[in-house]
Amino acid sequence: MLIFHVHCKYNTSTKLLFPSHSVDADTEAINQPKFIVFNSMLLAIFKMSCFVCKSSNPVVGMATNGTMVTVTQNCRSCGPMKKFKWMSQPLVFGRHPAGNLLLSFGTITSGVSISQMLLLFKHMGLCTISLRTYFVYQNKFLFPSIMKCWRESQAHIFHEIADSENCETWSGDGRYDSMGHCAKYGTYTMFNNGTGKLVHFEILQVLILLIYKTSFSLQYI
Ligand SMILES: [Zn+2]
Repeated sequence: MLIFHVHCKYNTSTKLLFPSHSVDADTEAINQPKFIVFNSMLLAIFKMSCFVCKSSNPVVGMATNGTMVTVTQNCRSCGPMKKFKWMSQPLVFGRHPAGNLLLSFGTITSGVSISQMLLLFKHMGLCTISLRTYFVYQNKFLFPSIMKCWRESQAHIFHEIADSENCETWSGDGRYDSMGHCAKYGTYTMFNNGTGKLVHFEILQVLILLIYKTSFSLQYI
């Protein structure tokens, strides 16, 4: 599971986060602090001199891939074959910018709306992935990883219940047609009282059986 922690020190006077430690160059992408960098600040660095031959004032080009920017220097002395290229993010599987994947991961695990997130970035003028790319990452990488993690966690809980006493009591409840849910489908969750953990859930189709006002039945899809 792609879970990470960045240890930061709180400045109590401003309530802002300031990283209090340096990070090794070989630290995994997920554990590295990330920054918002402005176009003008990048230009100021790459316009100074060619990173290959040190000639002054090279032509600088920028191309974005979601949240990543690729900067190229076109230098007259070096020519087109030797132009310097720099990427703002490491690549995952040699192809996908790590920031794009982490943005998708952070969105789905925090429960915020991707539409509002993208609108926020639009208002900021922050380059980001499209909605379509988010769903591609979701199906291709995130859902399989989350399901794998859940299955492993569930197996661990089963062993915990089997090995311990006072785990005979269970609770179950269904939820649908409330905030974030629909009237047709809902989730039914089983909770083990002994361990205090959610052990299983199913997505269910809800059928209202007008026997009692407050009663409902749940039919497996
Ligand atoms: Zn050069």
